[in-house]
Amino acid sequence: NHDYDVISAARNWITDPTQNATPQQIVTEVFGSDVLTLDQLKARLSKPVYRSLQATLERGDTLDPSIADTVALAMKTWAMERGATHYTHWFQPLTGSTAEKHDSFVSPAGDGLAMATFSGGELIQAEPDASSFPSGGLRATFEARGYTAWDPSSPAFLMRHANGATLCIPTVFASWTGEALDNKTPLLRSTEALNKAVTPALHLFGASEGTRVGSSLGAEQEYFLIAEEYFYNRPDLVMTGRTLFGATPPRGQELEDHYFGAIPDRVLSFMTDAETQMYALGIPVKTRHNEVAPGQFEIAPIYENSNVAADHQQLIMQILRNTARKFGLVCLMHEKPFAGVNGSGKHCNWSMATDKGENLLEPGATPDKNLQFLFFCSAVIKAVDEHQDLLRISVASASNDHRLGANEAPPAIISIFLGSELTEILDRLESGQGGRGPEAGFLGLGSSVLPPLPRHAGDRNRTSPFAFTGNKFEFRAAGSSQSISMPITVLNTIVADAVSALTADLQAKLDSGLAIDDAVGEIVKATYSKHKRIVFNGDGYSTEWHEEAEHVRGLLNLRTSLDAIHHLTDAKNADLFSKYGVLTDRELAARQEIMYDIYFKTVNIEGETTEYIARAMILPASVKYLKDLYGAGSSKAVKGVIAEVEAAADELYEAVGALYTQNQALGGEEVHEKAHHMRDHVLPAMSAVRVAADKLEKVVAEKHWPLPTYRQMLFVK
Ligand code: ADP
Ligand code: MG
Repeated sequence: NHDYDVISAARNWITDPTQNATPQQIVTEVFGSDVLTLDQLKARLSKPVYRSLQATLERGDTLDPSIADTVALAMKTWAMERGATHYTHWFQPLTGSTAEKHDSFVSPAGDGLAMATFSGGELIQAEPDASSFPSGGLRATFEARGYTAWDPSSPAFLMRHANGATLCIPTVFASWTGEALDNKTPLLRSTEALNKAVTPALHLFGASEGTRVGSSLGAEQEYFLIAEEYFYNRPDLVMTGRTLFGATPPRGQELEDHYFGAIPDRVLSFMTDAETQMYALGIPVKTRHNEVAPGQFEIAPIYENSNVAADHQQLIMQILRNTARKFGLVCLMHEKPFAGVNGSGKHCNWSMATDKGENLLEPGATPDKNLQFLFFCSAVIKAVDEHQDLLRISVASASNDHRLGANEAPPAIISIFLGSELTEILDRLESGQGGRGPEAGFLGLGSSVLPPLPRHAGDRNRTSPFAFTGNKFEFRAAGSSQSISMPITVLNTIVADAVSALTADLQAKLDSGLAIDDAVGEIVKATYSKHKRIVFNGDGYSTEWHEEAEHVRGLLNLRTSLDAIHHLTDAKNADLFSKYGVLTDRELAARQEIMYDIYFKTVNIEGETTEYIARAMILPASVKYLKDLYGAGSSKAVKGVIAEVEAAADELYEAVGALYTQNQALGGEEVHEKAHHMRDHVLPAMSAVRVAADKLEKVVAEKHWPLPTYRQMLFVK
């Protein structure tokens, strides 16, 4: 009766032994083999050309046009030797995913096909039609052109497919007027802002001239796997990435037997295959394990500089999606594919580091280093308290709304977990006690009295959206499907701002003759005192916390994405982004417009898909079952079931009618009005349809039920 077969769903996979590489081979042959590293280029370029390229990279300038052709030729040769037939500028439009338009290395010339030159001009800049990407009004209708420009700070790489490979050149994407149409440009700008803000502070702490600072990022990616047969028999998954229907199965995640459990062979084979491809791209994947929900898994790389980490994160998602298909699986990246079990997030582990590799959030072994650590840690506390709204906005989307605050993910309220040891130290500094532990008496401030700081503090907290985890902060509210560029851009910018302010303070105190340890002591004390309301080490899921956060501490609770997005263009935020050259007012307004638009379209598609499935699949199945029942005599059981099915089917019919009405309405002309209509009218109407349909799922004969069930999707693998 079904279009899908449970047994073949479970069996439909083939192992691929050619993918197996030994650890030795991974280290010596595989890792980075598809990445065009500087060393590769060095071997292919003359010394002067290489030196010129290197200088360009160090300064972050655009490439000297006089060497561009030579560099392009070297890149083309490298790529073609490895089987590439095409090249593409690879960029990250504001859809949150990546975009590519391939051009062949082969092109028609005179009497037949010939190898085209891949010129320096083509390497540096290309001109995709910008009108097919969201621009939020930045692109005037008469000026459809946009351009992509090479970002030499992230290496080019080969993307392989079953039949060949493509040379991918990471690029930024901008309008012809120079306004950013992508996620990479603001990220690069924010990294520069962080560098400019932090290096003066480091100099006060004695760092050598010429030290550069960037942010480091390691993102943990959660995802679900389900059998392909089920996926393609669920129009909701195909169209929206999440199930819009599905009764709760008798078993969910309550047995707590999946997290860190043995990984099934099929899944392990998939992971190994995907990881091998990631290694070839130089992505340092490190851990893999089962997550909390059945069918849910996680992959995490070792951290890298934010720009490369953000590029790699996009590649990780792409490779997971593509590779799953080889194993008869589909990888679901949605934040909440299944109601009733955990959703998926993407924890962003963030820190600041110098180009010498010094982690600025690593508590040091000596009092001097601790002073520096406490200074930067205070800056982060100040930044997060002052810009709770921006952090919340950076993770806002229709899909993440199903997750944030749903007692499985951090709440929509932003707070910081510091851990008991660090909190105690700051509390003691604030109260003027200093020291640590019961034996520490009343002491002044300053490095001579700073206690040894906890290194890799022991306590953990899973309910905080922003947690200090020993030598970095972990921002846990990011959604599994989103680009991590916006959250990192926000973190870099708000911390740059806070560091700037504290550095000015520090400079003033030093100028007035204070010793650095006393000056930092005063700054840490004052900053903590002012911003400690953001520090919360308790249970972020509890209702008491929501009460306290909002009503006692006055923290923001921007419950839904639309509540948050509204604040993106507040004067405070516009000033901040323009002050640090990260986003102009126009670029910021464009992003807000696009966020509203994507929200609106996402829910609009969900609303129409819900209507379709209810009307064209579930109602007919219920009617068919009723027909069976009407011919089945008049026993008490038959009459009882008929009554149940009829009642639920009537409820469904009514609810679909109401949903139809809301789907037709728009709520207004403006995109934010449409988005609000979706949130306030379409989502509730969809829920009503689902309630009735899920009742039917529990009474209609299984052979008539038109959709694969949660029981099948989550447990048959
Ligand atoms: P934990 O046990 O706290 O989860 P891990 O060492 O397992 O710590 O790290 C989890 C993630 O955090 C990994 O992706 C890791 O690379 C990343 N990470 C570790 N140190 C840093 C850092 N200094 N900056 C950014 N990310 C980091
Ligand atoms: Mg996790």
